[in-house]
Amino acid sequence: MAKGNIGVTSDNIFPIIKKFLYSDHEIFLREIVSNAVDATQKLKTLASVGEFKGELGDLTVRVSADKKAKTLTISDRGVGMTAEEIEKYINQIAFSGAEEFVKKYKDNAQAIIGHFGLGFYSAFMVSKQVEIFTRSYKEDAKGMHWTCDGSPEYTMEETDKAERGTDIVLHIDDENLDFLETSKVQELLSKYCKFLPVPIAFGKKKEWKDGKETETDEDNVVNDTNPLWTRKPADLTDDDYRTFYRTLYPMSDDPLFWIHLNVDYPFNLTGVLYFPKIKTNIDLQRNKIQLYCNQVFVTDSVEDIVPDYLTLLHGVIDSPDIPLNVSRSYLQSDGNVKKISGYITKKVAERLNDIFKKDRTQFEEKWDDLKIFIQYGMLSDEKFYERAEKFVLLKNVDGKYFTLDEYKKLIEANQTDKDGNLVYLYATNRDEQYSYIQAAKDKAYDVLLMDGQLDVHAISQLEQKHEKTRFVRVDSDTIDKLIAKDEHAQANLTDAQREALTTIFDSQLPAMDKTNFVVSFEQVSDTANPVFITRNEFMRRMKEMSAMQGGMMSFYGEMPDSFNVVVNTAHPLIERLLNDEETATQEQIAPLAAELAEVEKKRDELEQSHKGKKDEEIPTAEKEELETLRKKRDELTAAKKDVYKSYAATNKQVGQLIDLALLANNMLKGEALAKFVKRSVELL
Ligand code: ADP
Ligand code: MG
Repeated sequence: MAKGNIGVTSDNIFPIIKKFLYSDHEIFLREIVSNAVDATQKLKTLASVGEFKGELGDLTVRVSADKKAKTLTISDRGVGMTAEEIEKYINQIAFSGAEEFVKKYKDNAQAIIGHFGLGFYSAFMVSKQVEIFTRSYKEDAKGMHWTCDGSPEYTMEETDKAERGTDIVLHIDDENLDFLETSKVQELLSKYCKFLPVPIAFGKKKEWKDGKETETDEDNVVNDTNPLWTRKPADLTDDDYRTFYRTLYPMSDDPLFWIHLNVDYPFNLTGVLYFPKIKTNIDLQRNKIQLYCNQVFVTDSVEDIVPDYLTLLHGVIDSPDIPLNVSRSYLQSDGNVKKISGYITKKVAERLNDIFKKDRTQFEEKWDDLKIFIQYGMLSDEKFYERAEKFVLLKNVDGKYFTLDEYKKLIEANQTDKDGNLVYLYATNRDEQYSYIQAAKDKAYDVLLMDGQLDVHAISQLEQKHEKTRFVRVDSDTIDKLIAKDEHAQANLTDAQREALTTIFDSQLPAMDKTNFVVSFEQVSDTANPVFITRNEFMRRMKEMSAMQGGMMSFYGEMPDSFNVVVNTAHPLIERLLNDEETATQEQIAPLAAELAEVEKKRDELEQSHKGKKDEEIPTAEKEELETLRKKRDELTAAKKDVYKSYAATNKQVGQLIDLALLANNMLKGEALAKFVKRSVELL
């Protein structure tokens, strides 16, 4: 029997393996099974070049768990190892046999998974002892038995082994006994080995017979050796792609589109990416891409390998060029990884452009589902923005779709304001903003529907990218001001009228939490509504963005919502209200106004006479008089206001007009709504 020390530089590499090499202990199974697959692939390669002339036979890799003996055994009928090979590939850690093999048989080597030289030793993460029983395919090779208990010492001796190939026996340590459970092993095999290129059998298939679960003779093969992405696109139907999608994500809706990736220069990559139907919460849709290395599952968190917005895609990427057993931070700086990410971005954009060009109808049909993905890409990746500009669509409230260029042409003539800005009108809710949309349509304006999660950001981006372009929501101003074509007519009110109306409307505005109303007057038109409510575009957007982002923007989130109550002085109802108010209040207002005028005149004169004088030059008596006059003025103003207010309280029309405007904006709720209904009945 041979004994020796495993050739490592440090005294004991095992603690290092256990701690640092892999974050997840469970991958030991992936490593051992993929070695078995490698050994099998090597044998096939040797057979194909005539270096192995024997029978290949059944090449299934078998995994079995023995709970009593506490062992997990992985057996293959691959190349096996001679004593020299064990010495070289197992005893000399970090000397990867796979690497050497690939170099030698570059053009013929079936895909070889391992090239890191430490995979085998990951077995010690869960085992207190590992045994190898192996016999090389080479003629006259003797069976070998190797053992190691996790210290750098090993034993090696000849043994009788009838069959070619290798059995790896793991004596599972006490902390990891769950790796002997059938369900656990099955779970790990389906996770990591589902698409390995050689059949992997774990026990026998079971069936229900006479109310009992019994074993059949058939192998329980856990993998699909020929997964869709390894096949030629020309041989595949749409149904094949959909079926494969369902095997990856059994609970998902059918995907919208897919892309079959296949490159071999300057890096190797195959895979299929799917555009999923994205439901409301985009975060739940992330991290569905599975990364494989030669059909061995590596990870499903690909955020360092593909750009952020592409993590919304689903599917499989398989590349032997992505380093596997290394830290995440290393991945980010890896040149191949960067190239791969760039390549995928390009492919995705090309595919979208392709569908857009070849089948616009289909593209439009799926646009609503694709939109969030494309917008996310445009917002986060400049390169993608440039590509997507050609096929990104805008949808109007009538459900028509336009490219950016098409839409620009559509609105150019009618929606350019006096300063030469092209004004894009949009609504975020067809029902809630119905009357505003209607008003815009009456002017032959087109209104876009921007009701997506990322639309606020997409709008800002378009404004930044395109000069002289403004997006305004239909309810952000009165129709004439939305797209100001010429200088606007001033409201035709005297100061007294303005004061009266302001007080009257102010006094009847409802009190709402975190909401401010500002009354203003405009001579809109006699056919427009008498009162309407608009909301400042800038403030609203800031609030919306803050709601999405929090953090820095939360300042805006804390501000109350500010609305304008616009009184349309051109409307007959408002003219009538003014007349009515003047008749009703004149008797009380006239003397107050006369007295106020007197007070103001005196105050003015006094103030004038004090101009240019220093404070100490003004007689005390005059100072006191001025003080009295100011007080008087405030009292009279307040008295006038009270008159207007008590008038407003008796005039049901004011409250009614305000409520109608609120109602048109979907802002009348609860008690206010009940009051409105009651008042409406009374007015009838
Ligand atoms: P890698 O797979 O990256 O080469 P490993 O540590 O996983 O590194 O394996 C080291 C070497 O041991 C392999 O390259 C191979 O030469 C040999 N080996 C491991 N398992 C087997 C096996 N089941 N059959 C034949 N050789 C094996
Ligand atoms: Mg390996």
